[in-house]
Amino acid sequence: MALIVQKYGGTSVSSPERIKNVARRIARWKAQGHRLVVVVSAMAGETNRLLALAREVQNHPHPRELDVMVSTGEQVTIALMSMALMDLGLKARSYTGGQVKILTDSAHTRARIMSIDEERLRADLADDHVVVVAGFQGVDEAGNITTLGRGGSDTTGVALAAALKADECQIYTDVDGVYTTDPRIVPEARRLRTITFEEMLEMASLGSKVLQIRSVEFAGKYKVKLRVLSSFEEEGDGTLITFEEDENMEQAIISGIAFNRDEAKITILGVPDRPGIAYQILGPIGDANMDVDMIVQNVGHDGMTDFSFTVHRNDYQKALEILKPVIEHIKARGVVSGDKIAKVSVVGVGMRSHAGIASAMFRTLAEEGINIEMISTSEIKISVVIDEKYLELAVRMLHKAFALDQQPA
Ligand code: ADP
Ligand code: ASP
Ligand code: MG
Repeated sequence: MALIVQKYGGTSVSSPERIKNVARRIARWKAQGHRLVVVVSAMAGETNRLLALAREVQNHPHPRELDVMVSTGEQVTIALMSMALMDLGLKARSYTGGQVKILTDSAHTRARIMSIDEERLRADLADDHVVVVAGFQGVDEAGNITTLGRGGSDTTGVALAAALKADECQIYTDVDGVYTTDPRIVPEARRLRTITFEEMLEMASLGSKVLQIRSVEFAGKYKVKLRVLSSFEEEGDGTLITFEEDENMEQAIISGIAFNRDEAKITILGVPDRPGIAYQILGPIGDANMDVDMIVQNVGHDGMTDFSFTVHRNDYQKALEILKPVIEHIKARGVVSGDKIAKVSVVGVGMRSHAGIASAMFRTLAEEGINIEMISTSEIKISVVIDEKYLELAVRMLHKAFALDQQPA
């Protein structure tokens, strides 16, 4: 008899029929004698609908009020799920994040979980209830409703599993596991039976939204046994996130390809090549709470250099505004910038022991005539920035070049 936390995403609870289906699945786990905590997302499309509604009323919706509003999506599904479970003869009880209570910091729309009071849940579990908890939301010290950022229900699931010391956290979604890349872009993508925690962390941070990055961080910190599975299929082991490299049965050098269209690139031309310039440019960006991802500074000539970096697309216009006085002050020649870029990354722990991955990646892109605008590497990943219009082609070609469609020997 195990304690299991199951999280069901938006598509898995997108209609009354699907909610009843999930309830039947939960009932089967219950019948096997397991204790269950179930985390649900809002019905598919609901969070987007609420966000759009808010923007119709206020151009830049007030973050506190936005959280009050978007958290309602999950409040609907927890109640519906409990009703469906009761209809099957089970004892069930729903809780909002605040009721649990899932305490977060006060960073509205991207709050971090600080602690979870799991006493109430334990009492319900002891009394044979299925406990149904709203994903994506919490409450700060002052009692304000907060939300955890898009995809945050994954994090609620893993954080609850950590707090309850659950035997496993199962993330049920609309694909049957973690794939070598997004199967919607590359139909030949292959499900991985296992992926190391480190690789999953990179994949999530580089754009694979199958798991929210913070959920992977939580799993790593508290050693939560984490699995991704399909809510539409009865059978299948999904993908297990492993902590030991040698637990990883598949010994491919590259495990997957991640990509995102979330960034914008800014290049400052003709910057004086002297100490302190990078700080003068990026200091104000950091002060405005914007994250800088890639940075490239060219080799200087004639006392001048070019300086490029990327920021999140949401911060793009604001970054350009902040830079205007800076550019005047340092007497740079000008700015070129654009948000029609994409970042493609190959990820794999095998890179540590194998050379030549970067050149294989660059050759593949060259053969397709795709220009690389920026490069960054770490021990287990290589990322490039390219023109957005070539993104899908690049991902497909790299997937093929690294033979990711084939089971490794
Ligand atoms: P949920 O609503 O269940 O949280 P998400 O849409 O957040 O589901 O995440 C699942 C989606 O993630 C899949 O439908 C798939 O398109 C996308 N995805 C991106 N990269 C991958 C990957 N490497 N493996 C599996 N799915 C991926
Ligand atoms: N409903 C939220 C979202 O759409 C949280 C989640 O589904 O994980 O981002
Ligand atoms: Mg998700």
